[in-house]
Amino acid sequence: MTAAEILFPGTLHMNELSVVRVDLTAPPLSRIAEAILPELSKNFERASAEVVQCPNLTLSPFNLFSEGLSGDENVFDIGDLVNVVPAMKREKIYDMKDLKKIIASDPLHVIGPCAGPYPSIGVDSENVVRVKMTAAGDCIENRSKTFTMNESTGECVHVSMPDDETRFSLMANFFTCNGQTGKVLKIVCEVRKGPLSFTACVQEALAKSFGSEIIALGGVMFVEKGKAKVHVFKPNLAKKPLQSEQDFEKIMIHFIEVTPPSVGLGCIVSYDPGLNLRPHHFHMYTDHNNQGGHYHNDTEPETIKYTGYFSVAKNLFKVDQTHCDA
Ligand SMILES: [Zn+2]
Repeated sequence: MTAAEILFPGTLHMNELSVVRVDLTAPPLSRIAEAILPELSKNFERASAEVVQCPNLTLSPFNLFSEGLSGDENVFDIGDLVNVVPAMKREKIYDMKDLKKIIASDPLHVIGPCAGPYPSIGVDSENVVRVKMTAAGDCIENRSKTFTMNESTGECVHVSMPDDETRFSLMANFFTCNGQTGKVLKIVCEVRKGPLSFTACVQEALAKSFGSEIIALGGVMFVEKGKAKVHVFKPNLAKKPLQSEQDFEKIMIHFIEVTPPSVGLGCIVSYDPGLNLRPHHFHMYTDHNNQGGHYHNDTEPETIKYTGYFSVAKNLFKVDQTHCDA
């Protein structure tokens, strides 16, 4: 047992935490494609949105366990930014095996961003999840990667998660499904002329098109050309409480550029009905040189090319919401 495990022994049980389920209407993909295209074109020189058969996502550069993104599609928003600001809540350790206590998907494929498991990594980290579980949650395949920063060189360091390490800290935004192949929304955006990142642009386009109707997308984005700007946590975090999210950026995180081809996994939610949802959250990875972290934007707008494949979730789950008066 590591020192961190002695200090932070407990993993929360998801079925003992607050779970709010929101049934979503999931409009046809073709309607979403048509609705968002005008907004995408305001931020990118070239943009398209269409319905296609999902490419085989078990292949490079994605290397997922699932061929597709279909079958019992759900989005999970677990924890909150209030677990990070003003101070890290070390007791917020969850286990993605507990998702099986909330939904009955079999097999269950989990993709998306979360904070890495602090007890086993020993520092704060950005984790990008690629996990497949069977019915009882007893057979797990895990291709997740956790990214931190080398304190002396400032370079990105990665740890591949062992199959049995399914814990995570602080927060997560997971898309889950059976992994079947099927129709998906394909969004291609090239040459950024506006200020919005790819995911922020898609989110804003959904929000403007659908108002208070909640559209939750989950899936992959492939950066074929151009560098992506991501952050990882600095290993030695400030001990005094942070005053704001701006403090968080200044003191706690370190930006790096991820070279293409790179892949992001995550979720986009168009409207928050008061559950303190993250509107868009993606973590990037490269299997060719093991870079990655929390996606912010790109740094080469004149050459950037994004290709996203997304499914629409039928349900959204908010787990362990922290209320402001807590
Ligand atoms: Zn993140």
